[in-house]
Amino acid sequence: MRWAARRARLAFWIILFLFISILWLRSHSRRDEITFRQNGRTYAFASSGGRLLVDNRPEIERFGIAQRKDLEKLIGEPIPEGGFFIPLQLQPQWTAISNRPAPRYVWRTLLPYWIPWVLCMLPIALSMRRFLGREWRLYRGRCPHCGYDTAANTSGVCPECGASLDAAAAQNRRIRSAPRNV
Ligand SMILES: [Zn+2]
Repeated sequence: MRWAARRARLAFWIILFLFISILWLRSHSRRDEITFRQNGRTYAFASSGGRLLVDNRPEIERFGIAQRKDLEKLIGEPIPEGGFFIPLQLQPQWTAISNRPAPRYVWRTLLPYWIPWVLCMLPIALSMRRFLGREWRLYRGRCPHCGYDTAANTSGVCPECGASLDAAAAQNRRIRSAPRNV
């Protein structure tokens, strides 16, 4: 039962670890965001560049779109790619719209992904260490609990710490050969 609980806990940490790894990797190639409004302004809760953050990028994007629409309305057609001629009489209006001040970019990092990533890695590493240490001691003919040399032992009890060697060995065999139901 103790082993089942330990394994369930390890599985939980591994799944969480993989989940955070995927989010972290993804955040470097694309931005995921949820927008929300506060005090009449639009902000985004986003995953981007290896962290979770809050910023006002939706507002800046909206400003850019509105500005482009106004410029296109002024010249009466979509803005062509790669430069075009602006008639002299439209120059002042064009300049006025172009020079509208954009909202300043504001942002705050909430959580860099490396922090939960490391926190999930710790229990996994400890679990691996415990498992490998135990396997190694059994392999070397030593007590899995304290490491005392039990190669010549016939009593089935570790003389150093009193652990039952047969039970430990049997438990280990059981774990290795247990049928998996799921
Ligand atoms: Zn022992």
